[in-house]
Amino acid sequence: MRMQAKKSFAVIDYHRCDPRSCNPDEGICLAAEACSHKVMKQIDGIFEQPIIFQDMCMGCWDCIEACPLKVVFAKHVT
Ligand code: SF4
Ligand code: SF4
Repeated sequence: MRMQAKKSFAVIDYHRCDPRSCNPDEGICLAAEACSHKVMKQIDGIFEQPIIFQDMCMGCWDCIEACPLKVVFAKHVT
């Protein structure tokens, strides 16, 4: 019997993600800040969109809860 790889990770809707709008004072991505596994980061700095290292994402969805604009969502791949 062949085992099926199953993976869940967070993805960002980059058309709607806007650190200038969700956190106009500081430009800090609140979703990335909420990621205790440190796999979601603003690698280009504040006021820039974050990225998710999807291979390392734990699927805890803390980032989804934390994003004020609700632009982070769960993706399930089988
Ligand atoms: S993911 Fe959400 S909290 Fe993070 S910068 Fe984008 S809109 Fe803001
Ligand atoms: S689902 Fe959890 S581990 Fe993955 S990016 Fe979001 S907060 Fe980080």
